[in-house]
Amino acid sequence: MNISDMLEGKTAIVTGGTRGIGFGIVSKFLEAGANVALFGSRQETVDKALEKIRAEKPDASVMGLFPSLEGFEEANKAIQTVNEAYGQIDILVNNAGISARESLYDYKPEDFEKIMALNVNAVFNCSKSAAAIMKQQGGGSIVNISSMVSIYGQPAGCGYPASKFAVNGLTKSLARELGKDQIRVNAVAPGVTRTDMVAALPDEMVQRISSTIPLGRVGEPEEIANAVLFLASDLASYVTGAILSVDGATQV
Ligand code: NAD
Repeated sequence: MNISDMLEGKTAIVTGGTRGIGFGIVSKFLEAGANVALFGSRQETVDKALEKIRAEKPDASVMGLFPSLEGFEEANKAIQTVNEAYGQIDILVNNAGISARESLYDYKPEDFEKIMALNVNAVFNCSKSAAAIMKQQGGGSIVNISSMVSIYGQPAGCGYPASKFAVNGLTKSLARELGKDQIRVNAVAPGVTRTDMVAALPDEMVQRISSTIPLGRVGEPEEIANAVLFLASDLASYVTGAILSVDGATQV
């Protein structure tokens, strides 16, 4: 199968699709022939992402919205808007996420709530909304972006790994619950990936991080997108409830 046929005729939503890993997934899905709706947090960043896509792929079937995903009503409204625009929703990628590094002693309770609101509640809200549409259509695929910290934890900023353990919990539980409706639910757990945050680090630091990774380098957004494409596509028709590590065998 050619990549350009893998998602032909399908419609996908990618949350946090304006930059980084999410933008990589949007680009890959367009290459695979899907209609794509990208969600971002602000009109300005959504417009910028759409402009960049249209400059490279003038025929791309793409739209952008910037709903607040932390509450069900607004998330649901945005997903209904995509369904009205394209007539179906086959794939949902819950990618939008924020991280934290504070120690427990400095961690503000409101910051813990904020991280849970986007990294966990938004995954629940978007999945609840999209699954209802997928069930009516006869099936679909949900891919959640977890993290290697959902396996190892991390030594500071406990809210971030806690949120990603919850993402894995939603993935495994919803896979069991929604299997009867032919909705597959999987997750990709990236290791350190070259997004803006990593690109801004000094070379020396990136080299130090890379030297601890068995494959000897950090991942590229496209490599995460390739794994998401596999799980979203019919090539993974018997894969559900999987947490796929894409981390060069990082052990931290
Ligand atoms: P990024 O910061 O480059 O992009 C985050 C995206 O989320 C942006 O599109 C932004 O618009 C969106 N977003 C942020 N706050 C939002 C909000 N309140 N509402 C809606 N959208 C919002 O991030 P990234 O590094 O590309 O990470 C994407 C996902 O991958 C996250 O879930 C992250 O936890 C996960 N991840 C990243 C890495 C890494 O090394 N970059 C490693 C493991 C997992």
